Amino acid sequence: MAHIWRGVINEYAGYIPEHIKKTVVTLGEGGIPLIRSSAIEHRLSNFGLQAEVYIKFEGRNPTGSFKDRGMTGAISAEKAKGTSAVICASTGNTSASAAAYATAAGMTSAVLVPDGKIATGKLAQAIAHGAKLLQVDGNFDDCLVIARGLAENYNVGLVNSVNPNRLQTQKTASFEIVDELGDAPWVHAVPVGNAANISAYWMGYKEYSDAGNAVNKPVMWGFQAKGSAPIVDGRRVENPETIATAIRIGNPASWNLATAAVEESGGLFDAVTDEEILVAHRILSSEAGVFVEPASAAPLAGLLKKAEHGKLKMAFDELAQIRTGIPKIVFTSTGHGLKDPDWALYDVNLKPKEGSQPIKVKNSIEAVANILEL
Ligand SMILES: *Cc1c(COP(=O)(O)O)cnc(C)c1O
Repeated sequence: MAHIWRGVINEYAGYIPEHIKKTVVTLGEGGIPLIRSSAIEHRLSNFGLQAEVYIKFEGRNPTGSFKDRGMTGAISAEKAKGTSAVICASTGNTSASAAAYATAAGMTSAVLVPDGKIATGKLAQAIAHGAKLLQVDGNFDDCLVIARGLAENYNVGLVNSVNPNRLQTQKTASFEIVDELGDAPWVHAVPVGNAANISAYWMGYKEYSDAGNAVNKPVMWGFQAKGSAPIVDGRRVENPETIATAIRIGNPASWNLATAAVEESGGLFDAVTDEEILVAHRILSSEAGVFVEPASAAPLAGLLKKAEHGKLKMAFDELAQIRTGIPKIVFTSTGHGLKDPDWALYDVNLKPKEGSQPIKVKNSIEAVANILEL
């Protein structure tokens, strides 16, 4: 039967609160199939582990990151209230998504981005969609304080993930995974920045299993970047530093929800170094065929580290008491590589990578064949 994907609110209407469904603003987000990766399964087999590994590649969303799943909920709810302007703090992807959805809804948007480099792709998107882009002399956490203050005191809607409508539609990623696998995976790994995504996934898994659509729930593994790991360190990080700018956040807004998700699921938090992130980034692009931005490689970096240290085997052994069959792992790659493409051109030591410039060649079949050693 013909079916046009109608976006996550309409596709999962039975699980979405009424006030979000009144005036749906969608760009067709979601509906993203899992990618099974034999290359990563092979990597795990080198550690003696047999597992099915699936990538939830959220870079396939309309603006290139999972933020669209939440933004459809936030903007739809604002539209129903008659809001004409929205604001957000952003490391880049939220601004791109807010700008696109606000434009589609006929609203204006303003975005507050932190000091420092903003990935070219994300910057271009916000501008292309007509957002008013303000770079604040401070970090992400400072931007969020200002955005919250503005929404409290002025007539402007806050569309950061502290807006509960974001999680209500973001949780649909879990539904899609269960719909494909027939049950929840054993382990689900996600990068953690402001900590909304891991919270939304857990919310989705719980709701879907309560509704009888899944027998099990996964253990949730959250990975932060070493220089920006407040939850792992157990304290705020004043000056978070990592190349993975989407998770360069020192005081996560959904800290408590994320901690609850990990505790309830029997999961864990851990940190990975920038070098580990870049190694995983390279594995994803050059072995799995999936091009992501650095933050999106953090969960694979974490999984490989856990595999190497025997922790993944311990988790499988424990879960085998309640689950049957071959262990299934899902990890979320949150954003597309084209957002921040320069990383492809550097090696893991941040030196220009060999072969990162095109080879100049004469306009002749023979010359090209020679260079290709055909
Ligand atoms: C926003 C974002 C994250 C972090 O998600 P949180 O919900 O803030 O934890 C990770 N990766 C990418 C690409 C993002 O845009």
